[in-house]
Amino acid sequence: MKLILLGPPGSGKGTISERLEKDYKLYHLSAGALLREEVAKSTTIGKDIKAYIERGELVPDSFVVQLVKLDAKSKPNYILDGFPRTLTQATEIEDLNIDIVLLLDVSEDIVLERFAGRRVCQSGEHGYHLTHLPPKVTGICDVDKTSLIQRKDDNPQVIKKRFQIYHKDTALLINYYQKKKLLHKIPANGTPDEVYQNVKKIINQLNKNK
Ligand code: AMP
Repeated sequence: MKLILLGPPGSGKGTISERLEKDYKLYHLSAGALLREEVAKSTTIGKDIKAYIERGELVPDSFVVQLVKLDAKSKPNYILDGFPRTLTQATEIEDLNIDIVLLLDVSEDIVLERFAGRRVCQSGEHGYHLTHLPPKVTGICDVDKTSLIQRKDDNPQVIKKRFQIYHKDTALLINYYQKKKLLHKIPANGTPDEVYQNVKKIINQLNKNK
């Protein structure tokens, strides 16, 4: 199964992807994580990407498409988390034959509250929330045992910018995938457990109809 997870920043795409990866054996392909890996290499390109991310802007389409396609190439089943984010990116991956697109439908006030408590491990791979999804040991990642940090682009000014971009570019994808009859809206204002139950219902239904 090839699945796209759409939704505004802070809608829980990373958290839901982690669960899907475990339960359905889908490879979790996060465009943001791939970009942060490039940043960590401190190459010239990595430094450019860092600047885009820290400003809350989208990294140029051609670079992201290339990076994602290279990673997806050898995998039969995956979740695309945070990709595509523009119509250009969506048209560039027509050949991947996506099975389903889930839109995490969450209100902006809930997202802002989530951001305030959001923490990630040093690799950025595992996400937590101080109240709604705390780690077993305060301040430490359950999986890789590194200390938890707040992402640099999780500050209010950058978040505002990321929202503007979502409404300007990414929201166009809703119409695009609706027309292709691939889009399912998932109510996502609740807890991670509640949202995940909603996601599972849709996926299990799709698997049954196959
Ligand atoms: P995320 O981890 O999905 O919240 O993404 C963090 C940041 O990485 C975004 O604010 C963008 O700067 C960049 N980014 C992630 N995915 C994409 C994408 N599909 N296209 C362009 N930039 C992206």
